[in-house]
Amino acid sequence: MSDRPPVVVTGSTGLVAKHIIAELVKRGHAVRATLRRMEKADDVRRAVKRLGGEAAQLEFVVADLEQRAGWDEAVAGSQIVIHTASPFPMAQPDNPEDVIRPARDGTLRVLEAATRAAVQRFVLTSSSVAIFYGRDLPSDHIYSEADFTDETRTDLTPYIKSKTIAEKAAWDFVQKNAAAPQLAVINPGFVQGPAPDADLSTSHELYRLMARGVYPAAPRIRFPVADVRDVALAHAEATERPDAAGNRFLVGSGQLTLFELGRILAREYPELSSKVPKFELPDAAVRALAYVDKRMRTILPELGATKDYTNAHVTSALGLRLRDADEAATAAVRSLRDLRLI
Ligand code: NDP
Repeated sequence: MSDRPPVVVTGSTGLVAKHIIAELVKRGHAVRATLRRMEKADDVRRAVKRLGGEAAQLEFVVADLEQRAGWDEAVAGSQIVIHTASPFPMAQPDNPEDVIRPARDGTLRVLEAATRAAVQRFVLTSSSVAIFYGRDLPSDHIYSEADFTDETRTDLTPYIKSKTIAEKAAWDFVQKNAAAPQLAVINPGFVQGPAPDADLSTSHELYRLMARGVYPAAPRIRFPVADVRDVALAHAEATERPDAAGNRFLVGSGQLTLFELGRILAREYPELSSKVPKFELPDAAVRALAYVDKRMRTILPELGATKDYTNAHVTSALGLRLRDADEAATAAVRSLRDLRLI
C-alpha cells in the first residue's frame, strides 16, 4: 500500500468511479472506495484490474447516500474525496424525489463528513445537465462552465434536477462553511468509452437496447459526448492541481445524436444493421406519441436542440486532450462486444 493517505471515491460500483479508481491507483494512490453492498467489492477489484490498476491498493467501506452510517469511517484520515455516487436510472421515477433526495442529501452528507474529517479537496461528479438547461438563452448560445441549469423549469427530468440541485447545494455548502474542503466540480457530457465489466451504466445500456432492436426509429436528440477515460483523468487532475479549487470543468468533445450512436454500432457490427434505428422521427410525431407514452415526455425539450459548447477550460486548466465523440462511442460499442454483451 502507498504510505500517503487514501483518496476516497464514493459510488465505486459505477462506470465512472471504476475508471477513476484505476487512474488513481496507476498514479500511486491508495484508494478507499465506498459501495452499498460489500458483496460487490470483488467485482470492483476485477474491473479496476482489467483497467490496469493494482487491486492491492484498494480498500472498501459500506455507505449509502440515504443514511449517515459509514461516511465518517469512509473519509477518516483522508485529504481528498471524489464523490461520484448518485442515482442515474435508465427510466425516470414517478416521484422525482426518489433521485433528487439521494443526490442532494447524499452530497451534503459526504461533504459534512469530509468537513468533520478536515478533508482538503472535494471533487464532485456533477454533469453537463447541470449546465445546459438555463432559461431564455438564444439558440446560438455557446455553453460553458459559466452556465447553470435552472432547476425550477417545469420541463426537466428528475435526473437533470437531481444533478443541478446537488451541485448547487455543494457550492452553497462550501461558501457557508469556512472549514469545508476546497470544491472542484466535473461536469461530464454523456459518458462513452469502454465498459469495464457487465454491470452496465445507463450509458452502455442504451447500446444493448439498440442492439436488441428496441428503437426502430430515433427521436432527434443530441448528446454532448465525453469519454470515460477523459472523465477519469479530469477527476484525477482536479484532485492534484491547486488551481482547480473553486472551478467547474465541462468535459466533452463534440456531440452525437441518438441516430448517429446507432450508426456507429452498425458500422462496427454490420450484422446489427437491421436492429439499430433506421430513421429519425419527425419532432411532430414524437410530440404526438408523448400524449400516450409518458417516457417520451421527458425528451420533448431536447427535440432538435443543438447545444454548442466549449471545452476550452478543461483542456487549458487541466491540461487534457480530449478524445472525440466518435472515438468515445466506438470504444463503448467495442467494449460491449469484448464483454459479449451485444
Ligand atoms: P452508474 O449507475 O454506473 O453509477 C452510479 C453509482 O452511484 C453506483 O455506484 C451506485 O451504486 C451509486 N449510487 C446510486 N444511488 C446510491 C445511494 N443511494 N447510495 C450510495 N450509492 C449510490 O453511473 P455512472 O458511473 O455513469 O455515473 C457516476 C456519476 O457520474 C453519477 O454522479 C452520474 O450522475 C455522473 N454522470 C454520468 C454520466 C453518464 O453519462 N454516465 C454523465 C454525466 C455525469 P449501486 O451500484 O449500489 O447502485
